[in-house]
Amino acid sequence: MEDLDRFRESGAIARKVREEACRMVREGVKAIEICEAVEEMIREHGAEPAFPCNIGINEVAAHYTPPPGDQLTIPPRSIVKIDLGVSLDGYLSDTAATVALSPDLEPMAEASRVVLHEAIKAMKPGVRVSEIGYVIQRTANALGFKTIGNLTGHEIKRYELHAGTTIPNIAVPYPGKLKEGHIYAVEPFLTTMKGAGEVVSMRLVTIFRVAGGRIKLRRLKPEERELLTKLSERFNGLPYTTRWINDFEKVRAIHERLVKIGRIQGYPVLVERRGEPVAQTEHTVLVTEKGAEVLT
Ligand code: MN
Ligand code: MN
Repeated sequence: MEDLDRFRESGAIARKVREEACRMVREGVKAIEICEAVEEMIREHGAEPAFPCNIGINEVAAHYTPPPGDQLTIPPRSIVKIDLGVSLDGYLSDTAATVALSPDLEPMAEASRVVLHEAIKAMKPGVRVSEIGYVIQRTANALGFKTIGNLTGHEIKRYELHAGTTIPNIAVPYPGKLKEGHIYAVEPFLTTMKGAGEVVSMRLVTIFRVAGGRIKLRRLKPEERELLTKLSERFNGLPYTTRWINDFEKVRAIHERLVKIGRIQGYPVLVERRGEPVAQTEHTVLVTEKGAEVLT
């Protein structure tokens, strides 16, 4: 199918960019350098980032992208997740990899790859998503790690990154079965056995999105209305970083106000509740007649 070939193309871009990004992860490198390089590489391939490049260091599991001027560097002996998305005319792919900069963290990074591999082996039409959650948890536990229960994989459709079906990372009853021709992002997150196995929100927010539904423009000051309209037209409801806004300092106060009143949604940075390190591996996968095809 022509549609599926476009998803395959998108996935191939995501894979190449992920591999390049992982090679950049070294102690002392600025996080912003890696994320900007990822986003630029995606654009060089004629696609767009589906969301800002996420970089999660140690206990930070998800939703951190460097804000403008960020000075954060990769600390020594850390574990680093790079999570990126590609949109090729709305044909989305979503992938993540973990780089461990310390031998004692390598087993967890490796386990997240093994767990994902086992989950993908179990994927075929008609399999319950709860079965995939079971495989993920069982495999992680057998390797000596806990999964993060409140982060999940998701179905992907054109222009829809989180479409319908959810894929749990723990063995819980969950509605839904995998369907042939459908595309899913599978993304086990692992932490240590000492970890809580769940993430909590920090106050820090680095990724935003114009709130859904019809944008009501009444009761906004003219400058607020102007910024909201601009962001809505430019990002089309997709997540963005303030790094992508020229002269952000000039509109920072207005942006903060729009977040405060809920017209702009913020995605808080998510951290492991007990501060334990987290590993994540993610692929976008097409369910085929006999099994699954990894697109990323
Ligand atoms: Mn992802
Ligand atoms: Mn995902």
